[in-house]
Amino acid sequence: MTATTSTMTVEIDNFIAGEFVKGKSGKTFDTINPATGKVHGTVAMGTRDDINDAVAAATEAFEKGPWPRMSMQERARIVKRIGDLILERKDELARAESIDSGKPISESLNGDIPRAALNFHFFAEFATSHVDECFVSNPAEMHVAIREPLGVCGLITPWNLPLYLATWKIAPCLMMGNSCVLKPAEWTPYTAFLLADIATQAGLPKGVLNIVNGFGPDAAGEALTVHPGVRSISFTGETSTGRAIMANAAGTLKKLSFELGGKGANIIFDDANLDEAIDTAVRAGFRNQGQICLAGSRLFVQKNVYKKVLDRLVEKVSNIKVGDPLDPKTEMGALISKEHMEKVQRYIEHGKTEGKLMTGGERLTNLGDGFFLSPAVFEGLTMDSKLLKEEIFGPVLPVVPFDTDEQAIEMANNTPYGLSASVWSESINRCNFVSKNIRSGLVWVNCWFARDLRTPFGGQKSSGIGREGGRYSLEFFSEAKTISYKYSK
Ligand code: NAD
Repeated sequence: MTATTSTMTVEIDNFIAGEFVKGKSGKTFDTINPATGKVHGTVAMGTRDDINDAVAAATEAFEKGPWPRMSMQERARIVKRIGDLILERKDELARAESIDSGKPISESLNGDIPRAALNFHFFAEFATSHVDECFVSNPAEMHVAIREPLGVCGLITPWNLPLYLATWKIAPCLMMGNSCVLKPAEWTPYTAFLLADIATQAGLPKGVLNIVNGFGPDAAGEALTVHPGVRSISFTGETSTGRAIMANAAGTLKKLSFELGGKGANIIFDDANLDEAIDTAVRAGFRNQGQICLAGSRLFVQKNVYKKVLDRLVEKVSNIKVGDPLDPKTEMGALISKEHMEKVQRYIEHGKTEGKLMTGGERLTNLGDGFFLSPAVFEGLTMDSKLLKEEIFGPVLPVVPFDTDEQAIEMANNTPYGLSASVWSESINRCNFVSKNIRSGLVWVNCWFARDLRTPFGGQKSSGIGREGGRYSLEFFSEAKTISYKYSK
């Protein structure tokens, strides 16, 4: 069938060998619109059998098809075309993403969907300028280091940035000549389904991109991680899932890239531009309902500006417009699911026993049966509170005062995670000292979410293994091979 958003409920099939197909078991599961709590589609329930079919199709495409045999420029033409078509269909994709995930349409339209297109445009261009290395040892000897595709790659993605993160993996994977099987998050299968249609329209050969929907443990996700025909797994999701995948992938020694959870520290010093720091703290804490791995989900403020910052922050947070994700004026939409909302609510209830809730933290039943919470700010928590250590992944921001640079660093490092942090100060020396001593893969100085797709992206400690972005992605999705030449004349 062809993907369409024109009907009230959508039927989301798997995509194998260039065809939309039902799950082999014949079973489906419902996909829920988080803003209404109502079913908006049915999804093919992928199982081990569907994964086997998808890997077989990807293997056939890799072994016999044109894709790995094309030049980089030829592949780039098709990959770039996918990006172009995403932009052409951006309204449809943005609407689908917001219905599926509960995120505000302004964010889907201006953030997620253009970024998905950029992933294809960027990697099409970047990979074509990627240079193999050549080492001339002496006049009679030369060593050439080339990069070859891996073969069939497994891609497993989460629900918080569905198309944005799937395309962040698919684009470099394709550019390096691989074929792949994507297992999208069970909560948000819609835009990957539309992408399959787009890839076909762009001329991607059959079997190069396959999509199997379904669940993780004991289901499609796990089947992908143990399949002997899959060479690598690029996974973004929870740290605990990363552990399970690593254990399951050990039997077939897969190459792994893990982008896992985060608990970002946002540190505001007394010499910072406070207007900008506070505005950004609100965005960093609550964008996408706080469901961003890179969220500034802990706010540390130097003591002599603490009260001023907290008061202004609380005022701004209480004015965030929570509402229908499809309303262009909405600033915060619905959380992904009832289960997730209830998990976040348990953190809020726990926080109330340890500290002071300054604003929010309520379920907004006036918005109907959707999973809406008002954004919450806490103070008065001790540093061993689980609200300051664990990833809540929701609209909850604890604020804590500190005295010295050293104390700020200690607080920032006081979590198992190490993905990102922000430092706000006008002193370059202080920014440098603090940035270097925070154990995280990214540090933003006087900004948040600034990205250049060429830079290494990933986490330290429990936030991940490996890096993606630019050449790091190209290296992950390929094998290095050295061919050495000796001349007799
Ligand atoms: P999740 O780990 O529950 O699920 C992610 C994906 O893994 C889903 O497709 C799921 O079906 C699949 N899965 C689950 N168990 C599996 C198993 N045993 N084997 C194979 N696949 C399995 O994560 P989520 O709740 O969808 O996403 C939220 C998490 O993702 C948060 O922790 C967030 O920080 C993290 N995240 C990290 C980054 C990053 O770049 N570091 C980006 C976005 C989200």
